Amino acid sequence: MSTMRRIPVSHFANGEAVCLYIHEIVGKKGKGPVLGISGAIHGNEPTGTYVIREIAKHYADGDFRGRLWLLPVANPLAFQANKRVTPVDGQNLNRVFPGKAQGMFTDLLAAKIKSEFLDHLEAYLDFHTGTDRPTVDYTYVHNALDLSRAFGTRYLFRPQADRAGPVFNGTSKAVTTARGVPSVTIELGGGVVDQGPYIARGVEGIKNCMRTLKMDTAPPSPPMAQTVLGAIPTIFPTQGGFLYTEAPPLGEEIAGGKVLGRVVSPYTFKELEVIKNPIKRGVMILSHLTPNLVEPGDYGYMVGDLEGAEKLPGVKPKTGRR
Ligand SMILES: [Zn+2]
Repeated sequence: MSTMRRIPVSHFANGEAVCLYIHEIVGKKGKGPVLGISGAIHGNEPTGTYVIREIAKHYADGDFRGRLWLLPVANPLAFQANKRVTPVDGQNLNRVFPGKAQGMFTDLLAAKIKSEFLDHLEAYLDFHTGTDRPTVDYTYVHNALDLSRAFGTRYLFRPQADRAGPVFNGTSKAVTTARGVPSVTIELGGGVVDQGPYIARGVEGIKNCMRTLKMDTAPPSPPMAQTVLGAIPTIFPTQGGFLYTEAPPLGEEIAGGKVLGRVVSPYTFKELEVIKNPIKRGVMILSHLTPNLVEPGDYGYMVGDLEGAEKLPGVKPKTGRR
């Protein structure tokens, strides 16, 4: 049985209520965990929202164990504006958890997501993408290696103290991991490319997570050969303009010193910057797959460091699976 809750967060001065929509699908096959899946915590990352819609359709008849809690759009204002941050206060929702009962709008939003969603979960998947320009492909390992592996990206990232990589405070998963809830942050898709293949992979990945959690009663696919990275430096352009990528596709290796991309002025057509790979033995994790307009400090590239990375044995990934 599927129900939907509409939870008002606040009213704006134009009189409109801003609401969260949380779907609950109760499995009819018996007991199992409450699995929460959230999308669009960053408003310019809608791929997860498409994936969650497909998951809602696939499991609509309750043919699983436990309960599914779906939050397709965690930040409706940022989603409407196609922005990473909330337009009304400029805050990044994924840096302000657990939120505040009294604070800026994004603080109120985080507090509501915590009390109405995160606090009730027994397993948690949070879906991010590379945003509307770059494309990304990896999964975080927080506290549930088997669940992170089950999603099925070739590269995983376990944040390590003193090593470069995306490690942040105030994320939604900080709320769930503090209670010991198995939690996975997914980073897949985005960019000015067809999201269809990424949506398909996202849906398959979540189904396999649900099999691993014994919610979906089909057997999980055998673990695939994967690599756990301990460092993924982000390389930011220092010049704004058109960014033309020369790096290999996502998931492929790149040697130190090779050109990742070039920034060219749309005004003078002059080359403003050559961005080179600083990692001796790198692997492409985030990239601009089309020529895109960038600002200084935008996400340019993320290159995983294969030195000291941990190889996990398993079946070879299918060709083209990145
Ligand atoms: Zn994100």
